[in-house]
Parts: sequence; structure tokens; C-alpha cells
Amino acid sequence: MINVTRTFLPPIDAYQQFVQRAWDKQWLTNRGELVLELEEKLKGYLSVNNIIITNNGTVPLQIALKLLGNGGEIITTPFSYVATTAAIVWENCTPVFVDIDPVHFTIDETKIEAAITPRTTAILATHVFGNPCHLEAIEAIAKKHHLKVIYDAAHAFGVTYKGKSVFDFGDVSTCSFHATKLFHTGEGGAMFCTDAALFHKLFYSHNFGHNGPLAFHGLGVNGKISELQAAMGLAVFPHLAEIIATRKFAVDFYDNHLNSQLQRMKIREGVHWNYSYYPVIFEHETTLLAVMEALNKESIFPRRYFYPSLNTIDYTAGQSMPVSESIAARILCLPLYANMDAADLQRIVSTINENL
Ligand SMILES: *Cc1c(COP(=O)(O)O)cnc(C)c1O
Repeated sequence: MINVTRTFLPPIDAYQQFVQRAWDKQWLTNRGELVLELEEKLKGYLSVNNIIITNNGTVPLQIALKLLGNGGEIITTPFSYVATTAAIVWENCTPVFVDIDPVHFTIDETKIEAAITPRTTAILATHVFGNPCHLEAIEAIAKKHHLKVIYDAAHAFGVTYKGKSVFDFGDVSTCSFHATKLFHTGEGGAMFCTDAALFHKLFYSHNFGHNGPLAFHGLGVNGKISELQAAMGLAVFPHLAEIIATRKFAVDFYDNHLNSQLQRMKIREGVHWNYSYYPVIFEHETTLLAVMEALNKESIFPRRYFYPSLNTIDYTAGQSMPVSESIAARILCLPLYANMDAADLQRIVSTINENL
């Protein structure tokens, strides 16, 4: 069976060696040495100055919205995983959707200003499939209208724009280290922030507001990751070059062998991408369904990421988003993971090409 993704599992003895350190210290959580070591390694790898590793990629979105959203209207993309929109509603803010750019699939920066009202407090946009939003345009709009910018960078591990980590853009960026993501800790995530004062607030917020055992520094929640999850991250970390190189091999194979009529995602200029997802867009949903059925018969299970468009789910306002709805109905993410078998790739490509 070939699924849309396969979790990268490091050699189990490498994982056990890290877990052994937790046993030796008898210390399983509350920012133990494994978490601190993983944070240092990731800071170096990503070339960022600040990181807080968290228990997943959703809690940091909630924390950022709690601190910056202020219960207002949040301008956001309808084309993302449901966590992006759900976090807004969960924090008692109101999602205001802006349609996406049909080429990069990120929020259409040219339509943002028309959606701003006196109640708008922030923009929450997703670097979907690791393809960054139009960072400069969004920064300029935010500055002009005094809005905060939060990036859901769950897919953007290791992505750079003009040589700089995408995690360094916006007021806060969040990432997911879920088992299905490019770099993972089983469950996990991170938040990034270059402003020292805001970083301080994010840090306290992810640990109940604790300022030492007896004092508090504002309201907080539990966003901490455990030593057992950090052990997984430390065991996966040395394999990042292999993970990315073998994903690149699969992406190149798809690029070169899939029928050239199939629409692909255009990676934005100036971006060094991470080969995190391989979406293809069919001309019609009926073709997508036929191709999926043919693939499923071969025990190949791509996924309809992202479907449905988030403006159509029951707890959102139901604004019409024609571009996002159209792409959501026609987009399929093909299997993509580390160390994919060349024969499997050939089989996927042949099945698709034969059913177009
Ligand atoms: C995976 C994902 C999340 C949520 O991350 P978790 O670690 O599963 O909580 C948020 N946003 C996007 C776009 C995602 O793909």
C-alpha cells in the first residue's frame, strides 16, 4: 500500500539512545535537556535566533491568535488545513476569508486590503505546501493598516525566501512536527518570533504563564512538548539531508514524467523550497475522481488536500471564494515521502497518465 505520506522512522536504536538519557535523568517533560538540545539544533539548522518547540502545530496558532487577534476579524486563507480556520474560531475571533492566487495557492495579496474593516486585527495566512505567501506585499499592507501577521508555516520547514528562513517573517510563524510532516517528533510543533518582547509573551503563554514555580507572568496554557517526543526529533534530525534529497528525487520524477498538461503549483520566485507536497490540479473534478479510483485499485492512496475549501464548512460565514473552491475540488496530493521506491513512482505516474 502506498499512502500520500509515510512517516520517516529513524533507526530504533538511535531513538532508544536518546530515550535512555531521559531514563538516566528521570526527567520526562518541562523543557528537559532533550527539548533544549533539539531547540539548539533546529536554531542552527534553520538559521533562526528564536524557537519554542511545542506539543503540536495547532496550540501555537491558538497562542498567537490569543496574543495578537484580540477577538477581532482575522483575514485568512480558505485553502489550508482546517486547523488554520478552527484556531481563529476557537479563539473567539472571526475568520474573514480572502480568496487565493490561482498559481501559487497562497492568499491573494491583491485582495487583502478590500477585506480590512475597523475590526480587523490580524492576517493569518498559510505557506501552503511550503510555498510562501507574498511576504513583502503582506508586510506592507500590515504596516499600513497596523495589523499583526501570523504565518501558519506548518508545511514550511527549511524553506527560505531570498536566503532567509520563512519562519523569520511576520510577527509569529508556527510550524508542525506532526508525524506526517517533513520533519517530525511524532506530535509536535514550534513557534518563531523575532521580536524579543513578543517572544517573551509567547514563551510564558506556552507554559501556563509560569515565571518560576511560584509566580506567574500572565495567562497561559500547556503547549509544552515532552522529552520522549524531543528524542524522536533528535533521532530524525541527522537524516534531514537524506529526507530532503530523496523527496527531491521523487518531485523531479513527477515533474519529468507526469503528463505536462497537468497543472502544478508554481513555486514563488526567490524561494528555496522543501519538497514537502506534490499537488496536481485536474481540469475537472470528474477526472480527479476517475484518476483516484484507478490509483486506489492499485493500492495507491493520494489525498484530496485541501478539500473542502474552508469557507464552506459549517462554522464559517460561508463567504463565496470561487478560486479556492474551484482548486479545492480539482487538487490531489500525490504520494511523497523520503526514500520512495522508483518502481512505485513509475506505477503512480503511469496510472495517472493513462487515466487522463
Ligand atoms: C498539520 C497542520 C497544522 C496542525 O498541526 P498539528 O501539529 O497537527 O497540530 C496546522 N496547519 C496546517 C496547514 C497543517 O498542515
